[in-house]
Amino acid sequence: MSKVFVLDTKSQPLNPIHPGRARMLLSQGMAAVFRRFPFTLILKEEVSNPAVEPLRIKIDPGAKTTGLALVNNKTGEVVWVAELQHRGFQIRDALTSRRQLRRSRRSRKTRYRKPRFLNRTRPKGWLPPSLNSRVANILTWVKRLSSLCQINAISQELVRFDTQQMENPGISGIAYQQGTLLGYEVREFLLSKWNRTCAYCGAKDTKLEIEHIHPRSKGGSNRVSNLCLACVPCNREKGNQNIKDFLKGKPDLIKRILAQAKRPLANTAAVNTTRWNLYFHLKKMWLPVEVEGGEPSTTAPSEAWTRLITGTRPALENPLPSS
Ligand SMILES: [Zn+2]
Repeated sequence: MSKVFVLDTKSQPLNPIHPGRARMLLSQGMAAVFRRFPFTLILKEEVSNPAVEPLRIKIDPGAKTTGLALVNNKTGEVVWVAELQHRGFQIRDALTSRRQLRRSRRSRKTRYRKPRFLNRTRPKGWLPPSLNSRVANILTWVKRLSSLCQINAISQELVRFDTQQMENPGISGIAYQQGTLLGYEVREFLLSKWNRTCAYCGAKDTKLEIEHIHPRSKGGSNRVSNLCLACVPCNREKGNQNIKDFLKGKPDLIKRILAQAKRPLANTAAVNTTRWNLYFHLKKMWLPVEVEGGEPSTTAPSEAWTRLITGTRPALENPLPSS
């Protein structure tokens, strides 16, 4: 249950209170509603030297939604939680539609236009509008919340999967078998991509193994798009059969598995990019940012970040594992 924010009459944030207490304050006329979202009361008198307990804000950025939580650092109590809905996909669609309208107008009205040039540079740290809106949404809410309660620390979930490296079959092929950090990432990625279920029989809560859809022995690659999860019996039964032989008579299932396997990493990439950008914004503007699931916050901009702002991609060193 989320608590209610309280300000004193000078807009000074106080400790958030239980909704029951908020109802009492309202019915006794000691406070008024200041905001509805998030629900905030303003007291009718000033509180001098209030003992306000500092809160930590925890952020878990996602592609469609971002989780926000305020936690009392001392007691560990969760004071307030929310889920922020992003408009990333709507923004992308709106820009596409604008582009199409303008294009059709240009071809209808073709007056002479002087060529324009050198006006197409992007500033450093530029992000596509759909991603930028995600970062802006989160920053707005952090700002808003810090005016309603006392926040003294930020925790942010950082990169979950390094898609650049995972898409490089040369690295992932060898590394995931050796159980390196990257291999761990591939495992985690597959678990979330396949929803922790066996791709062939849908079994849950059992031991799952990484499975090559197109078998290695028949020339299948180690790319993430050729990997899925299978329970031990399914994996053993399939052996080195082709998926089309193994699932004979189930064309729907084959189609679904292949489609799922090919599903692009777009969401993940968007999330990773957003996370780095958000991290640097938070760091620039606010308090110490603690990072979960990424590099320690003290390091210089990571390779991923440099790649992001310079727009360069590292060359594939070893495009295919030689057998
Ligand atoms: Zn199975």
